[in-house]
Amino acid sequence: MAHDRTAIVVGAGIGGLTAAVALRRRRWDATVLERATSLEPVGAGIALAPNAVRALESIGLGDPVLDLAALQGPVGLRRPDGRWLVRGDASMVGPEPTVLLHRSQLVDLLRGALDDGAVRLGVTVTRVDPGGPSERATVRVRARDDSEEAGLAADVVVAADGIDSPVRTALFPGQPGPVYAGATAWRFVTPEPVAVEPAETWGRGSVVGLTPLADGRVYCYLTATLPEGTRFRDEVGELQRRFGHWHPPLRALLGDLDPATLLHHDLRWLKEPLPRYDVGRVALLGDAAHAMTPHLGQGGAQAIEDAVVLAANLRAAPGSAAVIGPALAAYTAARKGRTQGVARMSAQVGAATTWRSPLLVGARDLGMRAVGRWVLPRAARRLDWILDWQPPVA
Ligand SMILES: Cc1cc2nc3c(=O)[nH]c(=O)nc-3n(C[C@H](O)[C@H](O)[C@H](O)COP(=O)(O)OP(=O)(O)OC[C@H]3O[C@@H](n4cnc5c(N)ncnc54)[C@H](O)[C@@H]3O)c2cc1C
Repeated sequence: MAHDRTAIVVGAGIGGLTAAVALRRRRWDATVLERATSLEPVGAGIALAPNAVRALESIGLGDPVLDLAALQGPVGLRRPDGRWLVRGDASMVGPEPTVLLHRSQLVDLLRGALDDGAVRLGVTVTRVDPGGPSERATVRVRARDDSEEAGLAADVVVAADGIDSPVRTALFPGQPGPVYAGATAWRFVTPEPVAVEPAETWGRGSVVGLTPLADGRVYCYLTATLPEGTRFRDEVGELQRRFGHWHPPLRALLGDLDPATLLHHDLRWLKEPLPRYDVGRVALLGDAAHAMTPHLGQGGAQAIEDAVVLAANLRAAPGSAAVIGPALAAYTAARKGRTQGVARMSAQVGAATTWRSPLLVGARDLGMRAVGRWVLPRAARRLDWILDWQPPVA
């Protein structure tokens, strides 16, 4: 297929790969540059909410994703001793289910939808010049083990370079960057299938989530309220100490845990929002534009939506900046309010999980036990504006 419009995508995360797939479907020649030498995200699952699944459907990946994923079944909230605060099925939180899969499955699917040469690994973007009405954007790149830098030009550059986005720092030098949300998170996927009842368990300043994947392996996430940057010499031992006495099967899961499969990240978000997501011929998307906490499970979903909307806005844009500038401004207009609203709401939801006071936690648990079955569906309705999103039609 001949393409006359070129895009460079910085970063091969979920956002960057989706952008490349969406742009190629719109007849853009999109190349992804990724500094890592392999695309193997270890240790984590990902929940894709209905809005993300719809966005993937719009670029032809809906059925393949559903083939790989587990549909969210029962939902529930427990106390560390195992007592249920509230329990129900997925319909309690919405008419369409969230789906769960291993991140590597999603990355493989996106990568597989691209031509072989469309992703260049081991290539770091060291500088971006956003160009302007009469100049294309340019990037400087350095290949691994190569001291020589090279320059590349494109009609559009998509900055999908993640929460610590070097492109964002360069284009918005006054922006304070991501801030700590007060909690740190560990994630792993069990190597073998394990029988679990899917649920989230809320303790004092800690949360554990257990969700089965389609093949029966279990995605487990654990959070704790700790000072930013806290790390332990024996991370697995620390998790056993903190969570090993919680309800089964946590002791068994943590007892078998291979440290090499464990991810540990502090939860951070872009509290000070960006004024816009486009500068010259550069568009920012995903965590680079609006990093959020994971409490609504929407960071990846919003990156996928961004990618689909960006490509739709660029569908009619020939190489000339007279058209590209307005198309990117329209992208900002479509995405800024929504993504920043989701980020704010996610931070608010996360705040309740960091409560440590026994009094507050006791009241929270009591309230949940008493009226949880009533509260949960109503709380879920507050998410309708996020989950009901529809992709652009044309
Ligand atoms: C604990 C936790 C749980 C989560 N759970 C969910 C969930 O269930 N559902 C959900 O939707 N979201 C979830 N998220 C959020 C989601 O993971 C992120 O929002 C999403 O991965 C962001 O994708 P991205 O493509 O924007 O950035 P990233 O995935 O960070 O990708 C950025 C890429 O850019 C590359 N890069 C950076 N700089 C350069 C450079 N200079 N040159 C070349 N390449 C570069 C990086 O190597 C990286 O590969 C969770 C997040 C956390 C922390």
